[in-house]
Amino acid sequence: MSNKDILKNGLEDLGIDVNDEMLEQFKIYREILVDWNQKMNLTGIEDEKEVYIKHFLDSVSGVSNGYIQDGMSLIDVGTGAGFPGLPLKICLKDLNLTLLDSLNKRINFLQEVSNNISLENVEFIHGRAEDFGKDENYREQYDIATARAVAGLPILMELCVPFIKVGGYFVCLKGPNANLELEESKAAMEVLGVEFIEKIDVELPDSELKHNILVFKKVINTPEKYPRKAGKLSKKPIK
Ligand code: SAM
Repeated sequence: MSNKDILKNGLEDLGIDVNDEMLEQFKIYREILVDWNQKMNLTGIEDEKEVYIKHFLDSVSGVSNGYIQDGMSLIDVGTGAGFPGLPLKICLKDLNLTLLDSLNKRINFLQEVSNNISLENVEFIHGRAEDFGKDENYREQYDIATARAVAGLPILMELCVPFIKVGGYFVCLKGPNANLELEESKAAMEVLGVEFIEKIDVELPDSELKHNILVFKKVINTPEKYPRKAGKLSKKPIK
């Protein structure tokens, strides 16, 4: 099977209505990723098939469960080379997407990809989640916050939950230690105002990687004290 067909079938299995434009956008995204990866550290994976499976399909794996829907507002915290936010936007054209990262070089890369594949309604923020989570233009403004590979769950929650409206969801992608991280995050959930909804096992095509999606619902406003400043937050996660 060609790499294009692996991507197409994987997207269709998630219930995504795939078209040629979408597949072309993913192709260009990967080409720019490999090109820019020569001059900055964006990814350890460059092979087309691997990028399609481990970055693109992994990023959109949460779509089939219905929490992330077209037309919603979504912030991807610590997005790096755009995962999971940018592949979600390619599949859900009317998503109001904000990509946040503390490294400006990565934000420049994301703008370049977005211009090349003509994405609209994408906001790029260079900054720390600790700062923007306190900014009233961003705080409790989003239906969904997502994150992959940014921090352990108690810290990650403090970075992400302040962005979510009451009634919205935190959808994070986690590796094999998801259960343990969940156990360690009971206090953070209580303090920040989210309830655990479910853990979804993700199986990627042609891959032995086991990923999980953890879904939390925001049930009350996050107390103003959170997120705390960068040093404090990482040295003393909520326990
Ligand atoms: N989410 C991407 C992925 O799955 O490939 C990138 C993961 S990378 C390991 C973590 C990213 O989070 C980096 O690009 C880093 O700059 C960003 N980051 C870490 N802490 C952050 C913070 N407090 N605020 C904003 N970005 C942060």
